[in-house]
Amino acid sequence: MVVKTNVEKVKNFINGEWVEADTDQYEEVPNPATGEIIATVPISSQKDVNQAVAIAKETFKTWSKTAVPQRSRILFRYQQLLVENWDELAKTITIENGKSYAEAYGEVQRGIECVEFAAGAPTLMMGEQLPDIATGVESGMYRYPLGVVGGITPFNFPMMVPCWMFPLAIAVGNTFVLKPSERTPLLANRLAELFKEAGLPDGVLNIVHGAHDVVNALMESEEVKAISFVGSQPVAEYVYRTSAANNKRVQALAGAKNHSIVMPDADLDNAVKNIIGAAFGSAGERCMACSVVVAVGDVADELVDRLVTASNELIIGNGLDENVFLGPVIRDSHKERTESYIRIGEEEGASLIRDGRKDHVKESGYFVGPTIFDHVNSVMKIWKEEIFAPVLSIVRVNSLDEAIALSNESDFANGACLYTDSAKAVRQFREEMDAGMLGVNLGVPAPMAFFPFSGHKNSFYGDLHANGKDGVNFYTRRKMLTAKY
Ligand code: NAD
Repeated sequence: MVVKTNVEKVKNFINGEWVEADTDQYEEVPNPATGEIIATVPISSQKDVNQAVAIAKETFKTWSKTAVPQRSRILFRYQQLLVENWDELAKTITIENGKSYAEAYGEVQRGIECVEFAAGAPTLMMGEQLPDIATGVESGMYRYPLGVVGGITPFNFPMMVPCWMFPLAIAVGNTFVLKPSERTPLLANRLAELFKEAGLPDGVLNIVHGAHDVVNALMESEEVKAISFVGSQPVAEYVYRTSAANNKRVQALAGAKNHSIVMPDADLDNAVKNIIGAAFGSAGERCMACSVVVAVGDVADELVDRLVTASNELIIGNGLDENVFLGPVIRDSHKERTESYIRIGEEEGASLIRDGRKDHVKESGYFVGPTIFDHVNSVMKIWKEEIFAPVLSIVRVNSLDEAIALSNESDFANGACLYTDSAKAVRQFREEMDAGMLGVNLGVPAPMAFFPFSGHKNSFYGDLHANGKDGVNFYTRRKMLTAKY
């Protein structure tokens, strides 16, 4: 039964004010752990986007000329406020996304790290000079912001992913229009509120809630100079193509199917612990989730037994309850989609050795327990496609060569991990594995904010990745001055 209590009508944030969207279309936002409706989110119109973009364009005139250290000081204050509100931010993430409080707490940390990186804007924005490119002639490179930047984010990291975008874009002098996922709209508003409290001038960060109409309006607006997108593969490709066709700079981070290779010499206690965390943490709804284990040689039988035993011990439930490890997936429709993939895996002939459909949970939310398929192969749909849920496939191979070759057959290339004690194997993995973010003896090799988030193939469309120096280059344009005096 769906209970309605304290239903918040979400507003847009434009020019530092909470503004009702110009629409009568609203979507319900349930807490995925309980099904309770916690908010309604506006499906905003092109008019709302145009209003936000016009304000952002106007504000750019002053914000881009604000001294860089002054901008940076606002980010330092913002960092402090985020730290002070850590617990509340984490709880909001758990309530709207469903992940456990511990995972949400960690996500807040990853968001704060982005703000810390962006606060280094005075150093990050420095140019380069060469005093003598010819006799008496010098050359220098200077960095400038682009103008209005649009950001479009997914449901699975309501804090971390928006924080990959707006703190850095704003720190280097741009103004920003964010469209958060309509499935998790609440945290973004709190982030904007705290940024304003930190001293951010009105109009620098604006939020327009909604769905594809907002995205299309951002991509069509001539005033929007760059688009940062994170979400599923088909939408990422569409956003990349459309934004580029509209002469915009674009980075579009997409889906994944990450392989973890386990060698016979691996420390199995460590491998099992990390694979369980990477496959089932955040209900498998992570672009860096481990969705395929490749067991090499005679490690397979013991590894499979241990993974099933460890999965049986996981506590499933509302992420706000203590000790819960595995929360719900985001929506009832996503639960149905996941269950249909489990049926497909059975039909394809994989061995379903742990069936998460059978786990009993007392809450009425959208739960799927840890699910494991053994004897999966690269012809199967459950191997090829991103399921984005707590479903793990195990493929058995005979050698590291075979393991890497199989992993490289994937259309995606976000992350990959290797569990081994052999430096030689690590070197081969690093050189031959075609994925942007590699891990050795750990589960989720997501880079910190000062490095680029580096997916390839169908996991990324664009050139400059999010975060790190790539992020700085993405959000700035360069001018070269060559001079003789
Ligand atoms: P999604 O593609 O459904 O939505 C992402 C954003 O795009 C949302 O804001 C949504 O409103 C918008 N959108 C959806 N359909 C659209 C359309 N047809 N036209 C225009 N805009 C549209 O993704 P999701 O389900 O929210 O997020 C999960 C996906 O994101 C997974 O595939 C995951 O791998 C990916 N992801 C990737 C990374 C990465 O770094 N590569 C990080 C996080 C999530």
